[in-house]
Amino acid sequence: SHRIMLGPLVAAIDQGTSSTRFLVFNSKTAELLSHHQVEIKQSFPKEGWVEEDPKEILQSVYECMERTCEKLTQLNIDISNIKAIGVTNQRETTLVWDKETGEPLYNAIVWLDLRTQSTVENLINKTPGRNKNHLKHKTGLPISTYFSAVKLRWLMDNVKEVHEAVVSHRAMFGTVDSWLIWCLTGGKSGGVHCTDVTNASRTMLFNIHTMDWDAELCKYFGIPMEILPRVRSSSEIYGLMVSTHKSLLFTHNFTCLGDQSAALVGQMCFQDGQAKNTYGTGCFLLRNTGAKPVMSEHGLLTTVAYKLGRDKPACYALEGSVAIAGAVVRWLQDNLGIIGSSEELEKLAASVGTSYGCYFVPAFSGLYAPYWEPSARGIICGLTQFTNKRHLAFAALEAVCFQTREILDAMNQDSGIPLTQLQVDGGMTSNKLLMQLQADILCIPVVKPSMPETTALGAAMAAGAAEGVSVWSLNPDDLSEVTSEKFEPQINPEESEFRYARWKRAVQKSMNWET
Ligand code: ADP
Repeated sequence: SHRIMLGPLVAAIDQGTSSTRFLVFNSKTAELLSHHQVEIKQSFPKEGWVEEDPKEILQSVYECMERTCEKLTQLNIDISNIKAIGVTNQRETTLVWDKETGEPLYNAIVWLDLRTQSTVENLINKTPGRNKNHLKHKTGLPISTYFSAVKLRWLMDNVKEVHEAVVSHRAMFGTVDSWLIWCLTGGKSGGVHCTDVTNASRTMLFNIHTMDWDAELCKYFGIPMEILPRVRSSSEIYGLMVSTHKSLLFTHNFTCLGDQSAALVGQMCFQDGQAKNTYGTGCFLLRNTGAKPVMSEHGLLTTVAYKLGRDKPACYALEGSVAIAGAVVRWLQDNLGIIGSSEELEKLAASVGTSYGCYFVPAFSGLYAPYWEPSARGIICGLTQFTNKRHLAFAALEAVCFQTREILDAMNQDSGIPLTQLQVDGGMTSNKLLMQLQADILCIPVVKPSMPETTALGAAMAAGAAEGVSVWSLNPDDLSEVTSEKFEPQINPEESEFRYARWKRAVQKSMNWET
């Protein structure tokens, strides 16, 4: 059988909170040629704790790569045309492993995890004026359970193996990107220990102005700098893949960037002022602010958006992070059992088309932006004898939309230039009811690209554009037009404002629950 000639291909490993994907794109057309996806187990060993198994994560990457390569081979596509692999990952999730044995020393502590709540409260209490923004001038972030530094501190204080490995200089810290790249480039026999500026900017140990690890921050959290990965740009070759797997006998160039940055790139938001919102496990609205970091007055984060090459300037973004979006769907399925799959939610909610005055604030992990309130807890209110699971399903979808509205309001106030439409992506955007509700609640159109895998696309673009690979142009003029679907607001703004005001009252009730 003859091989199809396509020119250079670029792949992406998309390691998210709920699943891992491997995707292969044609670098000339940005067409997705093949992919494979594997779910990741999350464990909740104690209330508020969320963990994943680092070895399962690695295994899922191998499985996705092998299956995708099999599919490509069946399509007569030569996998040796894959010129580079971009890694994109769930951010902040924290791992420590032993560089001599290659073994993880504990599970990965997932970004949503709340075990560091008391540590965070103690740290804030010790700052002048009990100011959660005490480190914001350097990091762009409030002191919160969300970021890696406190999770790493917890591991050093509570896991004997981690403590011992740190003392004996065998410990390596990393977020999921670092773990995967270290393993895939050889692990204990010479793996590359690195991360990129976007992932580093979510640890709270990174100075977003100097673009390097910050000795003072490391001292503040008691983190020895020798366990940190080397920080690189998001688009340069870190190393070559070394694989013992027979279907993957090729070697590949690697680069990486955090999932939300990758989505920003994949949505082509390269201009100051352009924004996107990604609906996955959580929800993340990022607005490009260009070459300068803008500090929010309204509870948003300042983060490194990307740095696409060693000698290229860094771009920054304002970010509104919502902890629970798709996670509430999973909760309705696994904990309440009112749906059998995430697809069923849309039908259930659509069958009533209203929450009937029921409001659901899913503050399972406290509240992130714009509140940063770790002691908030979930609340369902406005129930009557009439309320049923359909209304609850609707309220859950509405909660995702209201949370986005709060972020968008904050974003508009910070920038002074309101967004006139919202570009969206992520797993939840396959839910059309959600998309329509979002347009109704924001009172602006919602625009969804027809190729939904924008996070992976962004990672592939960054990898394909890296010096030495150069099979993908990031010049906006060369980029192909993306086709999209548009949802226009359909309800009147007064109705929308009324519901939003009720939501805000419900949020107030969810606050300070734990104190
Ligand atoms: P992540 O990158 O965080 O792993 P994804 O972008 O893969 O997330 O999206 C997965 C999330 O989207 C899951 O939490 C899932 O419950 C939710 N989801 C997927 N399909 C739907 C749907 N049709 N309706 C509502 N939620 C959905």
